[in-house]
Amino acid sequence: MIPFEKALEIVTGTECRRMTKETIPFTESLNRVLYSPVVSDTDLPPFNKAAMDGFAARKTDLGNDLDIIETIPAGYTPRQRIGVNQCSRIMTGGVVPEGADCVVEVELTEQLPTGRIRITGTVRGTNISSRAEDVKNGDVVLNPGKVIRPQDIGIMAATGQTRIEVSKKPWTGIISTGSELVEPGETPSASGIRNSNSYQLIHQTYVAGGTARYYGIAKDDEAVTFSVLQKALSENDIVIITGGVSMGDFDFVPSVMERAGVKILFSGVAVKPGKPTTFGIHENAILFGLPGNPVSSFMLFELMVRPVICKMLGSNWKPLTLKLPMKEGVSRKYTERMALIPVKLTPDGMALPVEYHGSGHLTALTDTWGIVTLPVGTKTIEKGELVSVRQI
Ligand code: AMP
Ligand code: MG
Repeated sequence: MIPFEKALEIVTGTECRRMTKETIPFTESLNRVLYSPVVSDTDLPPFNKAAMDGFAARKTDLGNDLDIIETIPAGYTPRQRIGVNQCSRIMTGGVVPEGADCVVEVELTEQLPTGRIRITGTVRGTNISSRAEDVKNGDVVLNPGKVIRPQDIGIMAATGQTRIEVSKKPWTGIISTGSELVEPGETPSASGIRNSNSYQLIHQTYVAGGTARYYGIAKDDEAVTFSVLQKALSENDIVIITGGVSMGDFDFVPSVMERAGVKILFSGVAVKPGKPTTFGIHENAILFGLPGNPVSSFMLFELMVRPVICKMLGSNWKPLTLKLPMKEGVSRKYTERMALIPVKLTPDGMALPVEYHGSGHLTALTDTWGIVTLPVGTKTIEKGELVSVRQI
C-alpha cells in the first residue's frame, strides 16, 4: 500500500499518449478540448457602435437644439457626417456616424414642434462601444487546452471561426469482472447484483472528455479475463477493469494483468475507499484496476483516471475546489489511510457530510457535491473547521 499522494504522483507523472488533432464544425465542439488557438478575423465591435437608442451628436452641442439629419437603424451604413448642432437618430447596434462623439439616450431628449431635438437631462458617458475595444483582428480569443463552453462557441461564431481544431478523444476500454454481475436490464438472482460500475465509468469518461468502449462482464475466470483484457489493451488508450483487485480467492486480476504485458506500478493505495486500486502501463495503453465497489470506482476515477484523460487531451481542466466550513464534525478510529468524505453544500455555504454507509452505498453519491479528505494520521475534523472541498 502506498500513500495516495505518491500514487497520484506516479499516475500523473507517467508518460502517456498525447492525442492528435481533428478539425470539426464549431457547433459540434461543446466540451471538446481546443488543440489550436482560435484567432479572430475581425475587430469586435467591428465599428463604433451605439449602445443605446437615441441621438448621435457632438458633446459640445448638447446645450443647443439639434437638427436630425439621418436615421441609422442597426445594419445601415450612415451617409451623413454630424456637423455643428446636428444629430442623427440611431438605434442600439447602429454605426455611429462620423463627427459624433456621443449617443444621447432617447429618454433624455424631447422633440420640439420644429422637429429639432432638445436635451433635457444630464448625459453620462458616451454610450458608444468603440471599434475593437473587445477584440482586435488577429487576436487569439481562445487558447489551446480550453474545455469548450457555450460562451466559447459564441466567440467562435462572432469571430468567424466555423471550423476549429480540437484534440481527438482518447478511447477508454471498460471491463467489469465478477460472476455475481448481471446487466442492468436483467433481474439478478438471489446472489447476484447489477453491473453499475461499467455504465457509471462510461459516462464519467464522457464527462472527462474521452470516449468509451464497453467490453461487458468478465466472469471470475482467468482465461476469460485474460483474453478480454488483452483485447481491450490493444484497442484503447486507457483500460479500466473493475473488481477482482482486492485480495479475495477469485481476485486474480493483478496476475492476469502481468500476463497481458502490463507492468504494474502500484497495487494498493492508502485511501478509503479505494484501497485495491492498481495502476500499470502496457506498450499500447495505460491500465487502471479499480475496486468493484461502485463508490470506490467512482471516486478513484475522478481522482486518478480523469487527470490522465486530461493530460492525453492537453486539457487545462482543474477540479473546482472551495474552502468551506464544516457543518458537522467528522471522526474516525483508524487513520492509516486517507479518507474521502462525501459532502454536499448547504444553502448557508457549508460542507455537510452525506449519509454514507460505505463503498457500496451508491445512492449516497447522488447527493454528493464534493469530497473532503482526512489525511493519514488525522482522526477528526471539527464542526466549523475550514476544509478544502473538491467538486466531483
Ligand atoms: P471486488 O472488487 O470484485 O471484490 O468487488 C467488491 C464489491 O463490489 C462486491 O460487493 C461486488 O459485488 C461489487 N461489484 C463488483 N463489480 C461491480 C460492478 N461492476 N457493479 C456493481 N457492483 C460491483
Ligand atoms: Mg469481484
